[in-house]
Amino acid sequence: MFESLSDRLSGVFDRLTKQGALSEDDVKTALREVRVALLEADVSLPVARDFVKKVQDKATGQAVTKSVTPGQQVVKIVHDELVAVLTGEGDPGALKIDNPPAPILMVGLQGGGKTTTTAKLAKRLKEREGKRVLMASLDVYRPAAMQQLDVLGRQIGVDTLPIVPGEKPVDIAKRAKTQASLGGYDVYMLDTAGRLHIDDVLMGEVEQVSAVVSPRETLLVVDGLTGQVAVEVAQEFDDKVGISGVVLTRMDGDGRGGAALSMRAVTGKPIRFVGLGEKMDALETFEPDRIAGRILG
Ligand code: GDP
Repeated sequence: MFESLSDRLSGVFDRLTKQGALSEDDVKTALREVRVALLEADVSLPVARDFVKKVQDKATGQAVTKSVTPGQQVVKIVHDELVAVLTGEGDPGALKIDNPPAPILMVGLQGGGKTTTTAKLAKRLKEREGKRVLMASLDVYRPAAMQQLDVLGRQIGVDTLPIVPGEKPVDIAKRAKTQASLGGYDVYMLDTAGRLHIDDVLMGEVEQVSAVVSPRETLLVVDGLTGQVAVEVAQEFDDKVGISGVVLTRMDGDGRGGAALSMRAVTGKPIRFVGLGEKMDALETFEPDRIAGRILG
């Protein structure tokens, strides 16, 4: 995650910190390089521009250029601005699951990692918070996806709603709700169908399901390797169905990281978790400070 961005930035900052005294022009030149590095990492242009402007405003004051270690001061300002751009409101890992049974709606495009993430989150809720979780697949178009959730459920010891062939997504959602109440579950997670592209049918279906269960959380699962596309997908889902946060998957890959940096600034929605592999434990809460540390190496 962030390897190339991290390499680029450490090149810029190594030069800056070795330089000793810094003029405002030195800082400006370095920040131009930072901007290029951000754009190459697929950070959206307004976000990169705004980021560099904020750093510049703070770094060109007397206090920095006249300080004993101006380079380090600039790095610290960049670090703090990275944390600021990554930070949303509240604790990303704290899901709203009081008032059992609490519905969690998982949405996203096909192949983004939705089913895997549903199971990872269920496992986390079970193991870390001692919650009884019921999972249900609403992907009636892909029987294999329904089976996949079943298989993962057995693997992690979490119940899944029995599959009834021919049932409509909304009816599955209603059945999950009833089953969760009757069965004394704390949480029920609905793994909605994904499509290759956002279309009206997909959105209409998610809206219908959402209206039926009134989810406490609607989490968009999106492939972090897709950069700005991930941000656009989040924006569209938020406009149409309203999301409460984002899970960025495949952050174990050598993605350029732009999605992570642009997401909140562009969509206003926080990243809540990151997927770091195919295994059921490969899910972490999104911690801005740690991510900023990784980016700066
Ligand atoms: P869905 O169509 O959105 O439900 O996607 P799946 O959950 O079936 O995931 C598609 C593929 O991506 C599967 O092979 C998963 O194992 C894999 N996958 C999901 N999340 C991650 C992740 O964070 N890292 C990696 N490397 N692979 C992932």
